[in-house]
Amino acid sequence: MSTTAILQSLWAAGAAFLILTVVFWPLERMFPARPGQPYFRAEWLVDTTFFFGQYLVWSSLVLTFLYYAQDAVNALPSLGIQAWAHGLPWWVQACIVLVLSDLGVYWGHRLQHRYDVLWRFHAVHHTSEHLDWLAAHREHPVDSIYTTLNANLPAFLLGFPLETLAGLVAFRGMWAIYIHSNVRLPIGPLRVLIGAPELHHWHHDRHRINGNYANLCPVLDVLFGTYRCPPHEPEAFGIAEPFPRTYLGQMLHPFRGCIPGISGATRPTAEAAPSATGAVKDGVEPLQKGRQPSALKMGVQS
Ligand SMILES: [Zn+2]
Ligand SMILES: [Zn+2]
Repeated sequence: MSTTAILQSLWAAGAAFLILTVVFWPLERMFPARPGQPYFRAEWLVDTTFFFGQYLVWSSLVLTFLYYAQDAVNALPSLGIQAWAHGLPWWVQACIVLVLSDLGVYWGHRLQHRYDVLWRFHAVHHTSEHLDWLAAHREHPVDSIYTTLNANLPAFLLGFPLETLAGLVAFRGMWAIYIHSNVRLPIGPLRVLIGAPELHHWHHDRHRINGNYANLCPVLDVLFGTYRCPPHEPEAFGIAEPFPRTYLGQMLHPFRGCIPGISGATRPTAEAAPSATGAVKDGVEPLQKGRQPSALKMGVQS
């Protein structure tokens, strides 16, 4: 990579950081979900490192994987599904892509909370103890690749090239930043239709309520019995299991047991198994070991 290209990437990442600050700083001051949370809160530097790591290094790796996935799907024998999809009006195609993409994200995310092999990478994202727009960028690159594949594979199967999905990918990324921000807007019942910070903040509850897996459309959480929306903010964010607090430590920790010299943490608490009907009493799935009843001041869904 030439010096000019490196400087251009640095400039673009710096500009993105500045633009996001200009957009979210006033929002987080005017409509705070947690009033009084300072801009330079604990681990701000760790999350800033994640931000620049994503923009400068890992995003191109994720994109490379996406192109490989697209080529692999294109190499599959055609079942005529692509011709069928392209024969539909554009707005129907857009709706199908949106719904399938959200389904991919929902189930992919839910599995990450269920299986250790996926959770060990996703846990990095859940180590944030302060949520704001910057915390959205705390994500292990393996998690980024996995999530991006889940979001885009359905569209690839329908024959939509990555270029035409660029807008959706960018919008989904922006939405992910928004739902982590320290913002609470009075959108009322609309939060059942549109992913909102209060829903995703509960997903980050330190006591793991196991819900709100959707990114854009919480209707999927409603449909699958994982919608949680208590009327207040969680008491605390993060995870209870021991986890390194440095950038490098968080990048390496998921490989514990795979790389000599990296060992360590206990197995995370997996998602509680849903009931036979998939129903959830009072918005709370069965208690997990070690959970404190005091953390369950909820039961109100809106
Ligand atoms: Zn999660
Ligand atoms: Zn999150």
